[in-house]
Amino acid sequence: MKKAMIVSDNITKSFGNNVALNGISFKVYEGEIFGFLGPSGSGKTTMINILTGQLSPNEGQGMLLDKYSLHLSASDLETIGIVSDKSGFYEKLSLEKNLQLYGKLYGVPNSKIDELLKSVGLYDSKQTLAEKLSTGMKQRMLLARALINAPKVLFLDEPTSGLDPTTSQSIHKLLLDLKNKGTAIFLTTHDMNEATLLCDELVLLNKGHLVERGEPRDIIQKYNQNKKVKLTYSDFEQEEILFAQLNQTDLSHVIAIHSCEPTLEDIFIKLTGEKLNA
Ligand code: ADP
Ligand code: MG
Repeated sequence: MKKAMIVSDNITKSFGNNVALNGISFKVYEGEIFGFLGPSGSGKTTMINILTGQLSPNEGQGMLLDKYSLHLSASDLETIGIVSDKSGFYEKLSLEKNLQLYGKLYGVPNSKIDELLKSVGLYDSKQTLAEKLSTGMKQRMLLARALINAPKVLFLDEPTSGLDPTTSQSIHKLLLDLKNKGTAIFLTTHDMNEATLLCDELVLLNKGHLVERGEPRDIIQKYNQNKKVKLTYSDFEQEEILFAQLNQTDLSHVIAIHSCEPTLEDIFIKLTGEKLNA
């Protein structure tokens, strides 16, 4: 039986009159990438703070590895990794030195640090001072640092925001490797494309309310009842028709047929009337 590594049990959190999270429940199992998706201000970081015991909910509770989040001990925290843009480094030390310093806390040998640097594609830049790193390199360095203690549970707060597609892809590959090794990954993002590619299960959040949940494929199916396809003709005119009409259509001048499945982004807009990366 799969083991639940992260549990959110009816978590509600308000800041004054502002309800940041409204009765949110889910479980994340080992070897699963769980997506927590929503626009800026929808409660994503607040959820990470509650689940990792840094913030108390008003109602409900978070659990990590069978312990209440608020009762996590220092040694429990050694088995989790958190990547958020708040985590700082020593700007005047090289990338390698920064990681070695952190590794010492966990008794991790420098050979392991080299291995990690290679896995995030930073080995060749290991002498670069932290202050000289690009955004993408910093993100990957944070990820490498979070992986130093081989965490069983990994929290990633918008790990690829502001990254170029190639860097994002290398991070995606690394996350899939970790998942395959059994790590439970909690990923917040406003990149629906990323979520569709990576997540086994996801929730869509809007202003602290859960508006949809499930496997990306199932959610897309659910909102794709009137299946459509887009035809492109040899004069590059395009036309959308129902999939069911395809066999009654003259395709002799058609050069391409594309299915028009809604993206998660389309679905989110439909559900909330709002754009994700607003
Ligand atoms: P996200 O990470 O999805 O952008 P947050 O979890 O940071 O969203 O914020 C959710 C809501 O809670 C926002 O309206 C934000 O202004 C509010 N909020 C978050 N942290 C605090 C805080 N420490 N004090 C007051 N309001 C906060
Ligand atoms: Mg946030």
